[in-house]
Amino acid sequence: MDVFFNPVLQKFTGKTSDALFHNANLLFNLKRFAVLDVPTTDELKRSTKFDSRIAFHHRKDFKFHKPCLYPKSGGIGRWIETLESKLTMAGVDVRTNAHIESVGIVDKNINELVVDGQAIGVKGLLWSAAPATFCRLAGEDIGGVKPEFRSTILVGLVFDRKFSTNCHYITVFDPDFHSFRITLYNNFRLIETDLFSATVEFLVSPEKIDSLDWVSVAVDEMIKMGLCNSDAIVKKHHIKTILNGFPVQSNQSIKNLDEQVKKVKAFKNVHLIGRAGGEGWFLDGLIRQAYETASIIG
Ligand SMILES: Cc1cc2nc3c(=O)[nH]c(=O)nc-3n(C[C@H](O)[C@H](O)[C@H](O)COP(=O)(O)OP(=O)(O)OC[C@H]3O[C@@H](n4cnc5c(N)ncnc54)[C@H](O)[C@@H]3O)c2cc1C
Repeated sequence: MDVFFNPVLQKFTGKTSDALFHNANLLFNLKRFAVLDVPTTDELKRSTKFDSRIAFHHRKDFKFHKPCLYPKSGGIGRWIETLESKLTMAGVDVRTNAHIESVGIVDKNINELVVDGQAIGVKGLLWSAAPATFCRLAGEDIGGVKPEFRSTILVGLVFDRKFSTNCHYITVFDPDFHSFRITLYNNFRLIETDLFSATVEFLVSPEKIDSLDWVSVAVDEMIKMGLCNSDAIVKKHHIKTILNGFPVQSNQSIKNLDEQVKKVKAFKNVHLIGRAGGEGWFLDGLIRQAYETASIIG
């Protein structure tokens, strides 16, 4: 714990394991070690006990992979655009930047929303924002402390030459590096180009957002890791900050979320979907769950 997990958890969350929920490591897909060599791993993984602790050396060795889909062009936002145009074509009124001012409740059923001053009758509600927000609208007492988040700084870089690796992405556990994850787009997008794009993500406490020149750190660390040549030229860069990026899953925050989820579920026609429900994080699983929920309620 002190040698591996705590330094990594401290780097990603600002806390060590004793202050975190017992599953907090899963948010970073941190559950197995690659050990020894390929034949020994193969043998050890036949035991259920070791299988859950030991990782394959290469993803090709795992035969039961459920593919996670990522658009080859346009980034993850392409899914949202496609879903939105399908909804619009089906005659659905899609409103963005709308503000729900209040909810009407009869016998633990939501029967009305007031959105930007307009009352809308409701038969059922699929809710994907924070359960605390719903609780506040519904007049439920939520108490507790505000959840803590790590801010995410995303540095987009465009280089003039190929990367020195064919990895799709790299998670950087080493506490001596600031980078959390590096995604190398040209390694999984089939595009003919002489420009090579990467995103370097940093997870920091909100008060550290302005503490460093993140573009320089991103380039320096990519070079130091040998992902690109020291004489590669950065043709373009951009930076984006998400203040409430990754949740810090402390025991207290998980307990508060559970209580809020219970309060939302006590409403007969409200269904929680998305990460706010606390039962998932990765987009692939959340979209599948949302589809299943929508199919069940018809
Ligand atoms: C930096 C970062 C990197 C990630 N990388 C990956 C990855 O590589 N792979 C992966 O699978 N997952 C990744 N995730 C996780 C994944 O993006 C999220 O779990 C997923 O987007 C959750 O979708 P959602 O719709 O449940 O919530 P969100 O995407 O958070 O959407 C909730 C929406 O509700 C809106 N909202 C909130 N409050 C209100 C309100 N009061 N009124 C109106 N609207 C409101 C928000 O503006 C937002 O649009 C990453 C997350 C972050 C932050």
